[in-house]
Amino acid sequence: MNYDHILIRFGEISTKGKNRRSFIERLKQNIKLVLNDYNKLKYFSNRDRMTITLNGEQPDAIRSQLKQVFGIQSFSLAIKCESRLEDIKTTALAAIRAEYQEGDTFKVATKRAYKQFELDTNEMNAEIGAHILRNTEGLTVDVRNPDIPLRVEIREEATYLTIRDEKGAGGLPVGSAGKAMLMLSGGFDSPVAGFYAMKRGLSVEAVHFFSPPYTSERAKQKVIDLAGGLSKFGGKMTLHIVPFTKTQELIQKQIPENYTMTATRRLMLQIADRIREQRKGLALITGESLGQVASQTLESMYAINAVTSTPILRPLIGMDKTEIIEKSREIGTYDTSIQPFEDCCTIFTPPSPKTRPKKEKIEHFESFVDFEPLIQEAVEQIETIELYGEQVANDKFAELF
Ligand code: ATP
Ligand code: MG
Repeated sequence: MNYDHILIRFGEISTKGKNRRSFIERLKQNIKLVLNDYNKLKYFSNRDRMTITLNGEQPDAIRSQLKQVFGIQSFSLAIKCESRLEDIKTTALAAIRAEYQEGDTFKVATKRAYKQFELDTNEMNAEIGAHILRNTEGLTVDVRNPDIPLRVEIREEATYLTIRDEKGAGGLPVGSAGKAMLMLSGGFDSPVAGFYAMKRGLSVEAVHFFSPPYTSERAKQKVIDLAGGLSKFGGKMTLHIVPFTKTQELIQKQIPENYTMTATRRLMLQIADRIREQRKGLALITGESLGQVASQTLESMYAINAVTSTPILRPLIGMDKTEIIEKSREIGTYDTSIQPFEDCCTIFTPPSPKTRPKKEKIEHFESFVDFEPLIQEAVEQIETIELYGEQVANDKFAELF
């Protein structure tokens, strides 16, 4: 069938009262970014839904990309025709013919937004249904559970016919809920945490700490790939890469071995928080899940968290590792996360890190060391990359700060 339109229904946007217009506008921008490669598409929106005119673009790839955009409840491929009885009947018949097999059942469900239309909904259902039955063979009506539910939506300007609804990603449009910084490692957890934060409408910028030469270019590329993979949910992703070698070397030298992990996390958090401030974010996001490893016991979180009063969102806090890994497969980050490249934290992890560090103790150990110049230097030497899809947009390196 020659579908020429896509109808997009919004998710929770509908409950957001007066913010509705800006939500819809945001969703439209995100969809346009994700579908940037298809330049013939035209977009229209009103308060109920959005319509994309395909203008000859093939719908299949577009469909799979739309499924990943947050803020879409469902969408359908549609055929448009004029709001005239004969046109509607002809188009309905063509749509069914392209779709049915011998023995199938169908149903016509008309919705009439254009109240002046000559027939009412029941009359339309009967009229179109009869026309289809007269001109096909081996097809019967089943109003309860049809194989082909044909929906006819009559509006004043045009009529849209759709057959299948496809489920969207749900959630809220990325960027509609403010901005937060995702602490992104190369592991399984933090990309999944980023996914959930974006699902609730956060615009996410990733911060990654790397420590050359202890960590390799390939480990860095892995994180670029992960950030690029996440961009498909909102259209783009900004990644800040922080040089962390000097800070880690100073920690190794100055902090007792069983507290180096705690100090490392505290410094990462402080640096990420500075970047957040510069980028005007309001929260930090991590992939922590309670009790998963030594740094994620409640005592550890307490001692680490003490360096900032900025909200730290931990979308995975109640998830088991197996659930997280399953989700990473679903969102497409698994294959990258599983690559065996070293992370700056793992390389410097002592054989027996404190699982119950004391905040007072780490504060005491840190009080003999001036980390401030290194924190500042790290923030100044950030490399910032804008990612659209899995590609780095080289011409779009952010003109930062
Ligand atoms: P992940 O799978 O996300 O790496 P993990 O189970 O390996 O998590 P940790 O290594 O203890 O756990 O890291 C906990 C969190 O700290 C990560 O989810 C991430 O948010 C952050 N983090 C760890 N390493 C880095 C890094 N190199 N750069 C930025 N953030 C990091
Ligand atoms: Mg990790």
